[in-house]
Amino acid sequence: MPTQTEKPSRTPGSGTFRDDAVHDGTRSRSKREIVSLGVALAAVTLFAAIGGTVIPQLLSAWRGLTDAPDKALASAMLLNIAIILIGWRRYNTVSNELKNRTLSEAEARREALLDPLTGCHNRRSIAPAMSDLHRRAETQDRRVAVVLVDLDGFKQINDVHGHAFGDDVLRQAAQRMRDLLPADALLARIGGDEFAIALSHDRSANQDVERLVSLLIEAVAKPIVRDDIAIATSMSVGIVGCRDVAPGLSMDEWPNEMMHKADIAMYHAKKHGKNRYVWFEPAMEQELKFRSQLENGIRAGIAAGEFVPFYEQQVDIESGRLVGFEMLARWQSPALGLVGPDIFIPIAEEIGVIDELSECLIIQAFKDAREWDPSLTLSVNISPIQLRDPWFSQKFLKLLIQHNFPASRLEIEITESCLHDNISSVRTMIASLRNQGVSVSLDDFGTGYASLSQLRTLPFDRIKIDRSFIREINNGEASSKLVDAIVAMGAGLKMPITAEGIENEDILNSLRSMSGLKGQGYHYGRPETASAVIDRLREHGLLAAPDNELGSAPRMAIGGA
Ligand code: C2E
Ligand code: CA
Ligand code: CA
Repeated sequence: MPTQTEKPSRTPGSGTFRDDAVHDGTRSRSKREIVSLGVALAAVTLFAAIGGTVIPQLLSAWRGLTDAPDKALASAMLLNIAIILIGWRRYNTVSNELKNRTLSEAEARREALLDPLTGCHNRRSIAPAMSDLHRRAETQDRRVAVVLVDLDGFKQINDVHGHAFGDDVLRQAAQRMRDLLPADALLARIGGDEFAIALSHDRSANQDVERLVSLLIEAVAKPIVRDDIAIATSMSVGIVGCRDVAPGLSMDEWPNEMMHKADIAMYHAKKHGKNRYVWFEPAMEQELKFRSQLENGIRAGIAAGEFVPFYEQQVDIESGRLVGFEMLARWQSPALGLVGPDIFIPIAEEIGVIDELSECLIIQAFKDAREWDPSLTLSVNISPIQLRDPWFSQKFLKLLIQHNFPASRLEIEITESCLHDNISSVRTMIASLRNQGVSVSLDDFGTGYASLSQLRTLPFDRIKIDRSFIREINNGEASSKLVDAIVAMGAGLKMPITAEGIENEDILNSLRSMSGLKGQGYHYGRPETASAVIDRLREHGLLAAPDNELGSAPRMAIGGA
């Protein structure tokens, strides 16, 4: 079923493009036509007057009854006929010329209101068309729902397969949606890969909208083939109904408010796994406001030094000896108090400040760790986003040199999700860091999808078993066997193991039977501030000697550990 956008000559939405150019053209056309017509009419009147005398004289002269008419009068009549003919031709020419101009002006105007790639409405034309649809729906006791569509992973399609392929995907997605939408629905491309749809529906039939949206999702998900390459794309969809916007909005405000709310719902759909539709709910708006406060707070907090490292002890399980600390970020937010990394790290990644944030924390951790006994290691977590930077290892090593921190004391922790991105570049990065003496651990092992072959070919120094496995170690034979198996695999791959999340003595006892493990968890203590670490180390005689405050700097192993 074609939508109105498919038939651009039809007017979108209400059937009325308010086209000033057309009106102006019509006005000036009539003026010029009237002048031409006036001249022709004057000539006809004159012809009637002269002709009334000359023609009877001519006829009687022709029959031989009288002399030829007065020559001057006859010439005037001929001239008059010529003027009538010229006037008439002129009228026709002007009238055709103006008709053509009006048509091309209307065409240009119409094109300015359409998206050239897909032939849909564009951002400018959708709002008035939506108002018209809304107005008509009200008179028919119907409602209008607005649907905002965003293609998932479109940027990647563009980056990997080129813009021509990207354009094809957009065109085909638009066409597939158009084919399913009812005739009076509106479809607009309002941004790169964003579409807006407005459709009228029965007052209480939200399910109709849902059914249609499900069909749209299904249709767009079918692979798009070009040059023997098939690309499947999904879409995230936000839907808003009339009842979700405040009553009493003007017809100008109404479309923007509807699209704003559909956008919020769409954002929610993206956040919660993509490839789905979500109806707008008022709580989402609050969530978004909070989120935007967090984003601003994080940006300002980095500049104000509100992010600080906390430290969690890492212990040799067999001997109970403290071997190092894992740095865990905390945000001392003036507005929110102490905020954990699960809240701010994903946002920092998304808004592109994770590098900056991580660098501030690591520099601070280098300073803190130089006050510890040089035998103690420092582990830092690196986000998958940071590893996408091809210069990451160079930048990281430069940081070590600038802050004079021994590579041999440093361990970086990366999660299995890093391995999905670009495994060969991750491999190169790990190799270059290890060449300089930095150790690299695979964090949260068991929660991702690292394959055995990846583990065999990636040169990790250590595997950290995720705390979800350790917590369950005493809850049934299967759980403890799983940990046994991971430990045996580590031994086979010659990768030592750290057990995370040791919460109590029972768990610790179970792990004691497995040799060579390191452990960490609340049983040894909660993550603590740098000054609490200093107090702890003082108690154990593990502070750096005053003359050795740079840790093992003299033994620094940049360029060969
Ligand atoms: P992670 O690397 O797995 O860090 C261990 C997390 O487990 C920490 O949570 C720690 O407080 C918690 N934990 C330690 N012992 C126990 C225990 O016995 N039981 C339980 N239930 N939990 C325990 P935290 O500090 O909230 O950190 C969460 C995650 O945030 C970290 O998980 C890490 O992935 C990430 N993270 C922390 N700091 C940074 C950072 O500076 N950069 C990056 N990219 N990620 C960071
Ligand atoms: Ca970690
Ligand atoms: Ca972990």
